[in-house]
Order: sequence, then structure tokens, then C-alpha cells
Amino acid sequence: MTDIEELLLSRIRDVADYPEPGVMFKDITPLLADPAAFTALTDALAEIAGNTGATKIVGLEARGFILGAPVAVRAGIGFIPVRKAGKLPGATLSQTYDLEYGSAEIEVHAEDLAAGDRVLVVDDVLATGGTAEASIQLIRRAGAEVAGLAVLMELGFLGGRARLEPTLAGAPLESLLTV
Ligand code: AMP
Repeated sequence: MTDIEELLLSRIRDVADYPEPGVMFKDITPLLADPAAFTALTDALAEIAGNTGATKIVGLEARGFILGAPVAVRAGIGFIPVRKAGKLPGATLSQTYDLEYGSAEIEVHAEDLAAGDRVLVVDDVLATGGTAEASIQLIRRAGAEVAGLAVLMELGFLGGRARLEPTLAGAPLESLLTV
């Protein structure tokens, strides 16, 4: 493990049985509170943005906003929020997806993405991949291209990577840490 990976891992707190029994929640607030770790994370994700030729960052509500916005600034490209339904005031495209119980809906401002955009999707944790999959579908429906998906941490045992393989269709999935 590199020094940066060790630093990042040391600043992620495991919270057992949150928000419900059986879930090990990965709390990134200690990382955000540590400027050295937050800067290292931003730099690492901005490097991925550069390597993938991204022209836009899409951040997934809510922690994908916190991570994605400084990455966009560092990379010198725009930031676009993908929000839970009902939060964006303009004309939106929306995408529903299945959760373990029930379904969820995410939205993006239609005018924020267009043909010719290459979008890097940023989030904190990749779990089942359902949220990322829906966001990729949304980006493509807006006419833009997906440059890749970058996450701080991938929960390998949940199989998100395998689930996303057909959806990513060759675009890279970069996770800085895998547990
Ligand atoms: P999924 O759609 O299952 O990949 O879930 C991804 C979303 O849920 C991400 O936006 C994560 O922030 C959040 N999430 C899922 N599992 C965890 C976890 N164990 N710890 C922290 N966040 C999680």
C-alpha cells in the first residue's frame, strides 16, 4: 500500500450497524477534516480526471458533491450535480433504479450535459453499483460520453465492479482503495 493509500484509509471511520443493522458504514468525515488527506484525495482524483480526458465532473449526492467539486476546480473543468429527485429547479432528465427495498430516482439538469462532453463520475463509496449505474445511464441519455467512474473506496464483496462492467463498456472504474 502506498503512503497516500495508507493516509486515506486511516482517515475513514468504520461505523458498525449504521444506518441499519448489518451495514458497515464508511464515514469519510475524518478525512474531510484533515487538510493533508483531503488535498491528497483531491489531487489523486484530479489526476484520474486528467488521465481520462474528462471535460466535466458529475458528483453524486451527497458525498460525491463534497469530493467532486474540488476535483473539478483542481482539474479546471465544470462540476455538475446529480441529485435525488425533486431538488433541481430547472428542466431535468431523471432515472429510476431499484434498491433492495423499493426504488430511487436521480436527476440532472438537462442543459448541463451535451454531446461532446466527456464525464467522469465521482462518488465516495461504490457499494452495489446501482447509483453509479443509474448516473451513467442518465449521462448517456443526455447525449454525453462517460469518461469513467472514480471512487474513494470500493466495497469489493458487494460486486459493484462486475455489475458495472457492461454499463461502463470499457470506460475505466478507478477506486483508490478496495476493501
Ligand atoms: P450503491 O448504489 O449500492 O453502490 O451505493 C452507493 C451509494 O451509497 C454511495 O453514494 C455511497 O455514498 C453510499 N453507500 C453505500 N454503502 C455505503 C457504506 N457502507 N458506507 C458509506 N456509504 C455507503
